[in-house]
Amino acid sequence: MNLVELVGLSECFLCQQRKILIVLKMSRTMKAGIYHGVRDIRLEEIEMPAVKPGHVLVDTKVSGICGSDIHQYHGEWRQPRTKVATGHELSGVVVEVGDGVSSVSVGDRVCPECFAHCGTCRFCRVGQYNLCENIRYISQAGYGGFAEYSLLPASALFKLPDNLSFEEGALVEPLAVSYRSLLRAGADQRARVAILGAGTIGLLCLAVAKVLDFREVLITAKYEHQAKMAEMLGADHVIRVSTQDVRREAQVLFEPHGADVVVDTVAVEQTFHDAVAIVRKAGTISLVGGYTGPLNISLGAVVSKELQLVGSQCYSYSGLTTDFAAVIDLIAQKAVDGTPLITHRFPLDEVTAAFKVAADKRSGSIKVFLCQE
Ligand SMILES: [Zn+2]
Ligand SMILES: [Zn+2]
Repeated sequence: MNLVELVGLSECFLCQQRKILIVLKMSRTMKAGIYHGVRDIRLEEIEMPAVKPGHVLVDTKVSGICGSDIHQYHGEWRQPRTKVATGHELSGVVVEVGDGVSSVSVGDRVCPECFAHCGTCRFCRVGQYNLCENIRYISQAGYGGFAEYSLLPASALFKLPDNLSFEEGALVEPLAVSYRSLLRAGADQRARVAILGAGTIGLLCLAVAKVLDFREVLITAKYEHQAKMAEMLGADHVIRVSTQDVRREAQVLFEPHGADVVVDTVAVEQTFHDAVAIVRKAGTISLVGGYTGPLNISLGAVVSKELQLVGSQCYSYSGLTTDFAAVIDLIAQKAVDGTPLITHRFPLDEVTAAFKVAADKRSGSIKVFLCQE
């Protein structure tokens, strides 16, 4: 929101002296990242969105580029109709609230879940609101984090405690995804856990797994900088997929039975086959990656090993607590710290460069942030 000063001379109606008149006018435009096609995102000045009932306008402070944003950037996932690139891993300050909003007020520091839910459908009523029948994703419908202001559904918002920074606030969303994917597998502290993939979600799974205190945690990494980060975060075993055979290594490390739980954060044929091969009989595979197409896979081992396959969709309740509230608490207690994953920070003006860096892991990027603090 830019304040435009219109300066002119006018006569004062009391003393008749000529005075300088300053008119302040809201221009109601903002800078935003706009998709112009595949791998083409540019910063433009667009009309500010009007605040709708049930929504709030948030002054965006920090916004992370997610793997799903990269899928949209590459055209693997549908880009929004509005062409506004709508990041959902964000934090900011509420500056305007729409009709019917009482859960947050102007001045609150917040971070959103990536979707709006209705609160009244069958799934919402039993707390499974990530499965809401009327779910609306910010990335498709809204004005999200890659803009000066984000228009967000109030149902999606969580307040940030004072001791959480805006950067930590923008990491709540991917941490909640990771947290849920581990809890969905139902593992206990005796579990040996294998995490496939050392991107943001995989590495945050590792950070959460350390807090949940599993017996042993193994992670696979494609790039050396990811492997180094995994070691820094305390992985018991790091398998470098470019030079090591995942199945053979995992078999030796987790002998005699294999991993109790495997979390697949990559979502391609290779990782599905690896998961089925390294999980123990009657073990659980938690699928949390974003699939971009059908897979050619064999399910025979799922039957013969009596495996459980569970999907993990975003976040909602795990037990009596929302995944978001649980993660905010873990960060506030300093039990989990995702900030070492932030490898790059760009101002919003450099949204084009930020996406280039985030889309090419050879840049050494893990989490790329757009900062407007
Ligand atoms: Zn995300
Ligand atoms: Zn619902």
